[in-house]
Amino acid sequence: MKFIGAHVSAAGGVENAPLNAQKIGATAFALFTKNQRQWIAPSLSAKSIDQFKKNCEMAGYTPNQILPHDSYLINLGNPDKDALQKSRNAFLDEMQRCEQLGLNRLNFHPGSHLNKISEEGCLLLIAESINQVLEKTKGVTAVIENTAGQGSNLGFAFEQIKFIIDHVDDKSRVGVCIDTCHAFAAGYDMLTQDAFNKTFDDFDRIVGFSFLKGMHLNDSKKGLGSHVDRHDSLGKGTLGLNPFRFIMKDIRFDGIPLILETPDEQLWPEEINLLKGMEKES
Ligand SMILES: [Zn+2]
Ligand SMILES: [Zn+2]
Repeated sequence: MKFIGAHVSAAGGVENAPLNAQKIGATAFALFTKNQRQWIAPSLSAKSIDQFKKNCEMAGYTPNQILPHDSYLINLGNPDKDALQKSRNAFLDEMQRCEQLGLNRLNFHPGSHLNKISEEGCLLLIAESINQVLEKTKGVTAVIENTAGQGSNLGFAFEQIKFIIDHVDDKSRVGVCIDTCHAFAAGYDMLTQDAFNKTFDDFDRIVGFSFLKGMHLNDSKKGLGSHVDRHDSLGKGTLGLNPFRFIMKDIRFDGIPLILETPDEQLWPEEINLLKGMEKES
């Protein structure tokens, strides 16, 4: 069974996210547990935590249907020592928020070398960051998102994700989220069934489906291998609808949150329905 939803607003408190997800007919959702554009946020209140759990239960969302996303400011591979520490502290805070909310995964972008250190050096810093944070938390898996490879962002190649996982001590608490727009922009074709099979067979061989803890379902404004991260609504970009049909018919994507981060939120109910229909066709 597929869990399908969108990255919904948590304005006014995290407890509103499950309600916003329910309104659009979602069976999964993503959220920011704090303002994603600020370093420091007030801690979650006991009331907010309690209401979040109650609303999730009422709307039928279990932790396996929820994929929190961390702040865009965090760079766990930052070559600057002070900046790296700031990112590690912020990431620890985000993991602890997930712990408090009873969630079991946190999705993040691996990091950027900022053209100051080697790719390998940066990937090692990222792995070390994950190790430090996992040691201080319990029950929450660090979910590495693949990137489009824009600028000096790493994690655009499956081999880079594999390299990070290889250097994480507790393999039971590290996972991967594949964003379809990022993968396509990074050069992974999925337009035909054959191309899709090749991409995900490569993923399975290099990383392994057992690590897949979520997907971001986004069409792409830019083409294959463009390395530009611009999401589009489903069927309106260069991916078209076929890759989403292949995903919805493939049981390897069952049981994990499948999250829309498409630009027009008015379309989310329609997009969710479309995906649910594709699953039924199979
Ligand atoms: Zn992301
Ligand atoms: Zn993106």
